[in-house]
Amino acid sequence: MDQTEKQLDKKERAKERREKRRQEISLLRSIPYSGNQRWWSAETIAVVTGANRGIGFEITHQLASQGITVILTSREVAVGEESAKVLQEGGLDVGFHQLDIVDDESISSFCGWVKEHYGGIDILINNAGVNHNIGSDNSVEAAETVINTNYYGTKKMIKAAIPLMRPSAQGARIVTVSSRLGRLNGKRNRISDDGLRQRLEDIDNLSEELIDATLTKFLEQVKDGTLTSGGWPQTNTDYSLSKLVVNAFTRVMVKQLSNRPESEKIYINCYCPGMVKTAMTGWAGQVTPEEGADTAIWLSLLPDQAVSGKFFAERSEIHF
Ligand code: NDP
Repeated sequence: MDQTEKQLDKKERAKERREKRRQEISLLRSIPYSGNQRWWSAETIAVVTGANRGIGFEITHQLASQGITVILTSREVAVGEESAKVLQEGGLDVGFHQLDIVDDESISSFCGWVKEHYGGIDILINNAGVNHNIGSDNSVEAAETVINTNYYGTKKMIKAAIPLMRPSAQGARIVTVSSRLGRLNGKRNRISDDGLRQRLEDIDNLSEELIDATLTKFLEQVKDGTLTSGGWPQTNTDYSLSKLVVNAFTRVMVKQLSNRPESEKIYINCYCPGMVKTAMTGWAGQVTPEEGADTAIWLSLLPDQAVSGKFFAERSEIHF
């Protein structure tokens, strides 16, 4: 077998593995949670960011279909209300509130409203995100918006929600929609500076300061045109880096949350939904929004949630 044939063979096998996993998950999704697995009720409150469309809308739909009260949030009021109405008309317990994760006032007013109307949050899904490149485009023109939304917005939302997360025997849950494109040690598309990669992987010394310094350097290089010498991810550069730091932040948060009392535990994880047919990908990809939402639902509802600070895809742990 020559090199090209070997590569084709490898691709073919990877495709088969993916298809097999899709079928397994489709079967798993058809099995309802049993009574003793269902720790949640209509009193359980979930919040989904960027839920007016795509994966966020579907996560809202699936959580609400499990009998949870879900707050669909959207930065545009009219659009969000319309999306919530679709689910409400289907008989689901879905509320709506405006929420723009890059806007401090919006976050603060949302949190005040949740506290007043629902008393707190049990599940937070950080889904809101942007990618200004489709397909093989790789412009960094919108790098600042991408980093601000995907990383700083998500981080702000998590920090604002933590004081609202309710104590429970099962623990509150935070799930962030990330991407394999942000893998630290993937074979392709990784940061080429070994030292920086090692520092970003060293959990004991990983910090918000290191993440900030990495992003500051990246954005400076975007501005002064020296980006290509930086060794940043080659595909969807700004987006990949934004997801890489979201993953790193997940691990930083585990450390910050680790000393909470047993009754006030908060578990935080992130996952990659696969390449999902949504506006973000120009409706390309092999995965439907229903399938893309699945691991978020699975992680949110794990009956025995001892897992925290991990990265998942298709209901399995993967490497950061
Ligand atoms: P969409 O573009 O369909 O949805 C993105 C959502 O995020 C929209 O509701 C959008 O609102 C919202 N959003 C953007 N910025 C903000 C903000 N500042 N505040 C609040 N909401 C905001 O894409 P997807 O559904 O595909 O993406 C959802 C998540 O999944 C993203 O985090 C994405 O990075 C991630 N992901 C997607 C993959 C895919 O293949 N589709 C693969 C891996 C990860 P609006 O409608 O107002 O723009």
